[in-house]
Amino acid sequence: METAAAQELKIKTFKELKRTHTCGELAKKDEGITAILNGWVAVTRDHGGVIFIDLRDRYGVTQVVFKPEVVSPEVMQKAHSLRSEWVVSVKGKLEARPKGMENPKLTTGEIELLAESVEILNESKTPPFEISDETQASEDVRLFYRFLDLRRPTMQEKFKVRHVAALSVRNYLHSRGFYEIETPLLMRSTPEGARDYIVPSRTNRGKFYALPQSPQLLKQILMISGFDRYFQLARCLRDEDLRADRQPEFTQIDMEMAFVTQEDVWEVIEGMMAALFKDTLNLKLTLPFPRLTYREAMNCYGTDKPDTRFGWELADLTAFGAKTTFKVFAETAKKGGAIKGLTIPKPPEFTRSQLDLLEETAKQYGAKGLANFSHEGGELKSPLLKFFDEKERKEIVNLLGLKEGHISFIVADRWEVACTVLGRLRNDLAKRFKVIPENKWSHLWIYEFPVFEYNAGENRFDAMHNIVTCPYEEDLPKLDEGFSTPLPLNDPAHPWGHIRGYQYDLVLNGSEIASGGIRIHKRQIQEKVLQILGIDKERAERMFGFLLRALDYGAPPHGGIAPGFDRIVALLVGSDNIRDVIAFPKTSAGLSLMDGSPAEVDARQLEELGIRLMDEGNSKGKK
Ligand code: ASP
Repeated sequence: METAAAQELKIKTFKELKRTHTCGELAKKDEGITAILNGWVAVTRDHGGVIFIDLRDRYGVTQVVFKPEVVSPEVMQKAHSLRSEWVVSVKGKLEARPKGMENPKLTTGEIELLAESVEILNESKTPPFEISDETQASEDVRLFYRFLDLRRPTMQEKFKVRHVAALSVRNYLHSRGFYEIETPLLMRSTPEGARDYIVPSRTNRGKFYALPQSPQLLKQILMISGFDRYFQLARCLRDEDLRADRQPEFTQIDMEMAFVTQEDVWEVIEGMMAALFKDTLNLKLTLPFPRLTYREAMNCYGTDKPDTRFGWELADLTAFGAKTTFKVFAETAKKGGAIKGLTIPKPPEFTRSQLDLLEETAKQYGAKGLANFSHEGGELKSPLLKFFDEKERKEIVNLLGLKEGHISFIVADRWEVACTVLGRLRNDLAKRFKVIPENKWSHLWIYEFPVFEYNAGENRFDAMHNIVTCPYEEDLPKLDEGFSTPLPLNDPAHPWGHIRGYQYDLVLNGSEIASGGIRIHKRQIQEKVLQILGIDKERAERMFGFLLRALDYGAPPHGGIAPGFDRIVALLVGSDNIRDVIAFPKTSAGLSLMDGSPAEVDARQLEELGIRLMDEGNSKGKK
């Protein structure tokens, strides 16, 4: 027999301590075996000298018991010393838990490991927050200690879903004939709307790469190269002012296909979404997804990403308004504007002051005012009632679908304003009055977007989505008409504002989860579009010369799409925060709190690049 001192001296190799099983796999059927488990101490409890620890790893939690009648006082002492998040190796015998002590919430809830020995593989400082599903820790603290935050079982589960989703996408697209091809992270700066992140070249001083906002032009070139079907889980980088659900770098399921119509692209994506939902949530989606044109979506829901899990469709009173003597309505209609209405069941708490508040919100959203009609106690009520005769009142009730106990909100304004203001109120009120059913998945295609959208600030047309979107064939003549028309750019009748494009979005529960289009594959059309966007020949050549050149050499008709992978995973795991499904995200200020980036670099690094910081220069100048 070895003495205790000899045992003490004996240093065990990790090979001897290595786990035989994970903390999530042992069950009643394994009763009686001897197992070694490795993991983190999640919880320790001392029940009258008997010590229980919950040992955790990625696979689950197993209860370990130290009993003084089974192990030596030294082992008991070691067990006593264990603290949260220490890493241990425990050897013991698997036993069934005593009757009544089972935990049905755990897959390992019927068994426990009766410890024979324990080794401490590593100690841990007391963590700044408890490693549990619920946490009170602020997001900044969680991001600073991201290594601990990610240890929480709920986070581990999210990344499991993310992994399964990625695998599902790869398997599905492979089965549909796609090749996964990587495109470079260092490329030419071709600002596509957002600002590029630029990277200075050391070996070519004064020159810069850009990090891709998306592989858009490169995937088109892959089609020109004849690959026919391409995809990539592509990292995209955009130097934008961040909004709550945006990240400077994010992942898209980037895809492109040759010789396709938009319906072909939709069919592939519908299959991919069905596979994704099956593989991650074991849910069967109903295909095909419903489709609405951009105009229909705006008219019906006041947004191009409608949440169709609930009704509350907008009504149109424009034609009616045009016939009335009520000035606001009649003039709005005459000027080509719209009169739109949103009807909802009137919540009892909707008092006068609540209505005033809502009108304030509508004004913040861009409306000049917010009128209302309601039906209470068998009567139509409205501050506008006096402007309409009996027949007109009936028509209003009909058009709005206004029933007893309902209230309608009306905005008369430019079409976009009237629609979007009510669209936003529709979303706000549905959230506030909790009418959105949970556990419902409403996919919807929005298509037929305008190619161009007028930018009043700059007095020019911008691409509504993508500079490469192919106009509808029958709208192509409007490209030239726009150059010769006497109408000013800001005239609502300007031909460029009426060009429909093969551009589509996939919307899920009110979030845009994919955007794509059929692309221009003819150089002359691409050049014309760039010209309309105010990019002259010389700049077009400088920025997009490589694409234009490739279009000269037998570019096939092609189109694609890019579902936002982070957003989709966030929806799948029921999170409204995409940072939850990105292992190392940035804050909304663009900071990575864990590694402290962005950060200064050594003066020598800057010197090698031939870069001098302006502030530094200024302060030197002042000295
Ligand atoms: N490149 C586009 C984007 O990043 C998507 C696409 O049209 O495929 O939004």
